[in-house]
Amino acid sequence: MLNPLFSQLLNAVELVISDNADEVAELDRIIGDGDHIINLQRGLAALKVIENDFIEIDWSEALMKVGITLMTNMGGASGSLFGTLFISMAKEAKGQKLDSTNFPAIFYQGVESVKKRGKADVGEKTMLDTLIPVANRLKEDSANNIEFKQLLSNLSNQAYAGMTSTKDMIATKGRASYLGERAIGHIDAGARSSQLIICAITEVLSQQTDQS
Ligand code: ADP
Ligand code: MG
Repeated sequence: MLNPLFSQLLNAVELVISDNADEVAELDRIIGDGDHIINLQRGLAALKVIENDFIEIDWSEALMKVGITLMTNMGGASGSLFGTLFISMAKEAKGQKLDSTNFPAIFYQGVESVKKRGKADVGEKTMLDTLIPVANRLKEDSANNIEFKQLLSNLSNQAYAGMTSTKDMIATKGRASYLGERAIGHIDAGARSSQLIICAITEVLSQQTDQS
């Protein structure tokens, strides 16, 4: 029975993206082509349509379904990159029951696949400036047995720090790379949306920990 948590996470992500839609749109308008929010909301709407398919499947299948849905519906560079993230996590999670012990390695592998797909790394003013530090922090904190709520809080702080780090960067990947130094002073849209999504997820999980 996966649906309750899946729906909670999906609703929380949809809410944070719609609450911040104008800002994300504006960020991509300034140093990209302005469609990042539309791509993202198209992907989320496609997930909403098939929400009931997530009742009786395991997490690996769920991650695969999310990845394929985003890959085929979103469009843009971010559609293929977010799609890759989830499809790679699904492959890594196959045959395992997802929990806080194995999730760090699964997420880490997902981010590694995004790096390969985007031919990008940290410091290039992309979503990876949020995703890579979060994957590293998750791996490190769980290896150090950091208490779960503290770990969630560390992840959301790390996502925020990664997102803001893109402000002073020159972009070397994606559309913003055409702007050279003119991209300096502006946060990357994909780094911001990734941070918003990660913070929404950690918030749901943190509230759940309070209730259990
Ligand atoms: P498009 O760039 O095709 O218009 P979107 O606007 O939906 O697609 O997504 C743009 C975001 O994708 C950027 O803000 C950046 O975070 C991310 N991005 C673009 N190219 C790459 C890449 N090669 N590697 C990692 N992330 C990238
Ligand atoms: Mg764009």
